[in-house]
Order: sequence, then structure tokens, then C-alpha cells
Amino acid sequence: MESRGKAFIISGPSGSGKSTVLREVFKTYKNYYFSVSATTRAPRPGETDGVEYWFITGEKFDEMVENDEFLEHARFAKCSYGTPRGPVEEKLSNGVDVFLDIEVQGAAQVKAKMPEAVSVFIKPPSFEELERRLRGRSTESEEKIALRLETAKKELLEAEHYDYVVINDNYVDAARRLLDIINTEKGKN
Ligand code: ADP
Ligand code: 5GP
Repeated sequence: MESRGKAFIISGPSGSGKSTVLREVFKTYKNYYFSVSATTRAPRPGETDGVEYWFITGEKFDEMVENDEFLEHARFAKCSYGTPRGPVEEKLSNGVDVFLDIEVQGAAQVKAKMPEAVSVFIKPPSFEELERRLRGRSTESEEKIALRLETAKKELLEAEHYDYVVINDNYVDAARRLLDIINTEKGKN
């Protein structure tokens, strides 16, 4: 029988570089499924429904919660985010590794349900650099950037609860370290 896939939880403050590092990892690591979350936040320019997220209404989100369709879900920066359960379970049972880019409350929910999941916290080199990156991305209003930075202070305190911490100084180096973690964890099967 084919062995089950592994779930990798990737967390870190908004702007720490989770998407950038994962994009780099996926250039060489191919046996993966990136879990597409549902969110009530509006798409950013360039984001496509069904690719980065499923962009849904608050009503639809509540309906999915009601029907127990989420593996985990949480509120972040005044929006709701959730991981659809079906595709994650299907991929894992088909031997495909699943990557969840989720915030700290959701990560704790997944760890409670799936203790075998591997959690990795992507940390910015400093708070000042995090602020620079978040502003440099130019995807949020000043008010939303401030809210995300405020949240980041609390999220950074959660790093110690993760299995691994990767500092995203140079994203190519950070991706290499994440690949090492993936390979180490795969080797434990
Ligand atoms: P997240 O997915 O964690 O919110 P992003 O991957 O969108 O973060 O990165 C936030 C911003 O920082 C983007 O503009 C990205 O290009 C930039 N960035 C990511 N990693 C680095 C890095 N190692 N050095 C400098 N800039 C980076
Ligand atoms: P963004 O709006 O910048 O794409 O994401 C904001 C935060 O929500 C990030 O920390 C990201 O990891 C997190 N996030 C994205 N999808 C999910 C999800 O399905 N569940 C949870 N709990 N967090 C998510």
C-alpha cells in the first residue's frame, strides 16, 4: 500500500515571506498539494479564485462552518479563513504531501487533530524588516498594514510552539532550509 502523505503547516506573520519561500520550494519539490483556503477577504490584484484562495462571502463561509467542511478555521485581520477538509484528506490518503499556509490559531487546531503534522514557523529577520516587506508589497491599506503588524507581535510569541523555525533572511536560503526539513521528515516514514 502507498504510504500516506505528510502535512506541513507553514505559519508566520503576514509579510514574513511564506508565499515567497513556498514558491521557491515548489520549484524543486513536486510531490505536493498546496491547500487552497477559503477566505472572506477581497482578492488582491493578480489573485485568482481557486488558485491562491477560494474567495467567498461571509454567508457561504458560515454555511461551510455549519456543515463541518473545514479542517480548521479562524479570524484574522477582520476576515475569516478556513482550510477545506475534503481535498486535504484525499491528497494525504493518496500519498501526496499537503502544505497549509495558515495562521497560528488554525495551526494549533490542525496540530490537535493531526499530531503527526509537521509545523514550521517562518520568521522575518527583524520586526523592522517585516514592516518594510509588508509595506513594500503594497497590497494592503495603511490601516490594514497596522492591524497586521499588531497581530504579528502576538504571532511571533507562538514560534516556540512549532516543530521548526526558519528565518527568512534570504529567501533562497530559507527555501533550502525548508527543503532540508521536508526531506528529514520524509526520511522518518
Ligand atoms: P507572506 O506570504 O508571508 O505574507 P510574502 O511571500 O507575500 O509574505 O512576502 C512579503 C513581501 O516580502 C513580498 O513583497 C516579497 O516579495 C518580499 N520578500 C519575501 N521574502 C523576502 C526576502 N527573503 N527578502 C526580501 N524580501 C522578501
Ligand atoms: P493573507 O490575507 O495575507 O493571504 O493571509 C493572512 C493570514 O491568513 C496568513 O497568516 C495566512 O497564513 C493565514 N491563512 C490563510 N489561509 C488560512 C486558513 O485556511 N486558515 C487559517 N487559520 N489561516 C489562514
